[in-house]
Amino acid sequence: MKDFYDVVIVGASSAGAYFARKMAERGFSVLVLEKETPETLSREYDVFHMGRAEMARYGLPQVQPGDGVYCFAFTDDTQYSPYGQHAKPGKTDVIGMHKNGYMLRMDAWAEEAGAEILYGACYNDALYENGRISGVRFTLDGAPAQVGCRLLADCSGKQAVVRRSLPDTYGIEKFALTARDVFFVKLRYIKFEEPMERWLKSQFYLFYKIWIAPSDDSADAILGVGSSCSYEVGEKFYQLFCKNVRTPPYRVVREEVGTTPYHRALYSFVADGFIAMGDAACLTKPNNGEGTTAALALEEIAADVAAAAMQGGAYPTRDALWPINKRYNDGQGKEFAMVLAAFARAVSHSIKMNDFLYAHDAIFSKKIIGAVGGSSGIGPGEIAKAVFFILYGMATGNIKPTEIGGMLLGGVKAVRVLLHYARYPANPAGFPAWVKKADRLWDSVGQMADYQIEI
Ligand SMILES: Cc1cc2nc3c(=O)[nH]c(=O)nc-3n(C[C@H](O)[C@H](O)[C@H](O)COP(=O)(O)OP(=O)(O)OC[C@H]3O[C@@H](n4cnc5c(N)ncnc54)[C@H](O)[C@@H]3O)c2cc1C
Repeated sequence: MKDFYDVVIVGASSAGAYFARKMAERGFSVLVLEKETPETLSREYDVFHMGRAEMARYGLPQVQPGDGVYCFAFTDDTQYSPYGQHAKPGKTDVIGMHKNGYMLRMDAWAEEAGAEILYGACYNDALYENGRISGVRFTLDGAPAQVGCRLLADCSGKQAVVRRSLPDTYGIEKFALTARDVFFVKLRYIKFEEPMERWLKSQFYLFYKIWIAPSDDSADAILGVGSSCSYEVGEKFYQLFCKNVRTPPYRVVREEVGTTPYHRALYSFVADGFIAMGDAACLTKPNNGEGTTAALALEEIAADVAAAAMQGGAYPTRDALWPINKRYNDGQGKEFAMVLAAFARAVSHSIKMNDFLYAHDAIFSKKIIGAVGGSSGIGPGEIAKAVFFILYGMATGNIKPTEIGGMLLGGVKAVRVLLHYARYPANPAGFPAWVKKADRLWDSVGQMADYQIEI
């Protein structure tokens, strides 16, 4: 370890490893501090998923069957109505991998480019010179240590240990995630008494937020339940699912639980000599809570901008790093914000309404569900059809006006959020006014936890 690095990154999981690789590739000296050991790294849960296209798009390390990291791949992805009779088949291309193994592979990939990774190194606090970040204090295998840097990156996950340790006046939000701000996920690895083809494919039941997908060799499938508010709420939906959807008999081989951020991303990711990325910046996909690839769009921009800001030994000031905020929010940032706002209310409706809309392929239609999180391609025909079935549903008592009113209002607010993010300020001068309005919009949108229905 040297006394000084251009970049110090806290956290050697997906966000930290990717940024380390990108900065090392550009010729900067990079040190990554990771409190876990290689054996204990990323062990909160075992199997995780990444889209094959995203892995290719960001040039991530590849995996192969039989290499000890690869678990499975699937391309079929069907959405089901609450009683399981209305299926909307779709296509995807997803790879399942062991998380610990793949994170070690990403770390090795960063090291190949020249980054140094210290395991057993726990961040304590930042060092400052003239009020600006100039290094970090940490413990290495329990002994105090420190190192200087120009840029400090918080990739420490949802605990966000770095941004939360900065002075209140440093220009970075310091909030901690509460139970209202996360999605509670419980994974059951299940084995069927008699495996049946359909149940070994990816299938999603929106009403219960339940997903059944392939597993590694230890089980036939993974049954995941996601829920706002608490694990107990998720269990109630799981019990209702078991009552309403006929699955072949299965036993649970093992269970895993964990939370994933379900909160708008930081308004600003940057400050003097500082950037937050990954879960530390609340960068998860708003439609499913996945975060490993969600963070890459920001990180790719961050590596470009930070490299330019640090050219010739320059200190990366907040002003010089600001284009990271602007470029991110001009793209993925505004889309994620819109979907997050829309989802706050979209899932708050009765089983009856959900079933009705699935049956008539309206709102929860193949086209709209398929478009979530991506470019929509939804035309006037789809909207007219949705309006027709909403009116028909109200006339026949399948949809309550309050339910659909809330959903439509949520849609309107989501568009307002999109428009506001599209006007993200090009420099810090316009930021306070932008934040004021953004706060008002998010307050009026609320969160999924605010609209959780009782069952
Ligand atoms: C049950 C469950 C299933 C999920 N499934 C998927 C999935 O299939 N696909 C997907 O994309 N996402 C999934 N997610 C979300 C995904 O796990 C996270 O979004 C992703 O891991 C975030 O990556 P990160 O690098 O930002 O943070 P993390 O993976 O949390 O890594 C942060 C790192 O920082 C280290 N650290 C923390 N504090 C310190 C400190 N003081 N000093 C030094 N190091 C420190 C930690 O040890 C850790 O290694 C799932 C989440 C859960 C809970």
